[in-house]
Amino acid sequence: AKRNANEPEFMQAVQEVAETVIPFIEENKKYQNKMLLERMVESERVIMFRIVWTDDKGETQVNRGYRIQMNSAIGPYKGGIRFHPSVNLSILKFLAFEQTFKNSLTTLPMGGGKGGADFDPKGKSDNEVMRFCQAFMTELSKHIGANTDVPAGDIGVGGREVGFMFGQYKRLRNEFTGVLTGKGISFGGSLVRPEATGYGNVYFANSMLQTKGDSFKGKTVVVSGSGNVAQYAAEKATQLGGKVVTMSDSAGYIYDADGIDATKLAYIMEIKNELRGRISDYLSKYPTAKYFAGKRPWEVKCDIALPCATQNELNEEEAKMLVANGCICVSEGANMPTTPEAVHVFQKAKILFAPGKASNAGGVATSGLEMSQNSLRLSWSSEEVDEKLKGIMLAIHASCVKYGTDAAGYVDYVKGANIAGFVKVADAMLAQGVV
Ligand code: NDP
Repeated sequence: AKRNANEPEFMQAVQEVAETVIPFIEENKKYQNKMLLERMVESERVIMFRIVWTDDKGETQVNRGYRIQMNSAIGPYKGGIRFHPSVNLSILKFLAFEQTFKNSLTTLPMGGGKGGADFDPKGKSDNEVMRFCQAFMTELSKHIGANTDVPAGDIGVGGREVGFMFGQYKRLRNEFTGVLTGKGISFGGSLVRPEATGYGNVYFANSMLQTKGDSFKGKTVVVSGSGNVAQYAAEKATQLGGKVVTMSDSAGYIYDADGIDATKLAYIMEIKNELRGRISDYLSKYPTAKYFAGKRPWEVKCDIALPCATQNELNEEEAKMLVANGCICVSEGANMPTTPEAVHVFQKAKILFAPGKASNAGGVATSGLEMSQNSLRLSWSSEEVDEKLKGIMLAIHASCVKYGTDAAGYVDYVKGANIAGFVKVADAMLAQGVV
């Protein structure tokens, strides 16, 4: 702990895993030696580097880039790239640590990694974003490869950025390989990859609801965020019969009592993905909706909450508000959006709660499917990928139930996901010797 004392997000992620995995280790002799957990919390490798690029005014800019190669026990390092001014070592280590367990849960052969830069894409021109991505990849290309480390998107990194980074990698290495996932369809991307995290989250929430004989039909759904994950979580929740009433960004949230249906969601996608505007712009087309500046949507009465923006965006007080308002299910689309205190509130109230490493694993799972398609040099249809995604989410749900069900029948999905994720990585590490 001392070694990482100044990395609060990383400590938070490790603490949550340790709380559930240490008792399991104590009951299972096989995992009691060889410093397994100690090895898992130490990154195999951390790369930090300078990124220098030129803005549209011709001025030189300097940013810091990172790649955390956390664990390669079960496959090449795999995990997204985040561009956000808040990016630092602690945040990326927490994400890479979570990623290791998540990737293990997908049943696919992927290790854990994460990367990014403290670059702020907001307000930057396409050309600036391109030059930044090229400068970032110029260094990163030395450390990644289709069989070594395969990055993808995350906050601030979508199809546009992945395309620019892929182009630069290809230029530098003179090879066309599946070194990144989330690529455009015309150059090796997988159908359903953009939708996968949001869809997967809703499939997972639906599996949880089914254990209670329930579903999304007729439910009021509160979504936070309005980026990639939030957009497709809202789309699938609506398709399954739910009514999505909120979406948000870092400046505030919109509330539409009539529901954000497919047509309205298409407008949000246009605002966010093409115009690169703010969620408040929604009111210019739908003025009957309300906008709450500087607020988060958890105060809105709902049956299901899907936090899909960022870490620590749902605190204890907000969790209590959700429970008091009758919320029965919280499924994390983002990574660690719920603070530990808030998770305890949900678990104490015995409502359905899914941690991101289980419920948002559909994104990386589909990235794994993209890697397979690239290796085979073929592409599967949307239906094929969606079916595989559904199957993987069901399998993750089953693993959580297997390891997380208590004597009274309540499923602690946090415990289930942590132990199921741990077992596979631990077994592989033991088999590979002291490394
Ligand atoms: P995007 O960049 O597409 O969207 C991020 C959204 O979250 C935006 O609405 C953004 O608002 C909001 N947001 C970002 N930072 C903050 C903040 N500090 N406070 C409040 N709101 C914030 O990212 P994604 O949708 O890809 O990622 C969202 C979450 O899902 C992240 O936690 C990510 O790690 C996780 N995730 C993503 C996967 C993927 O496949 N993309 C896979 C698995 C997990 P604004 O525009 O104002 O910044």
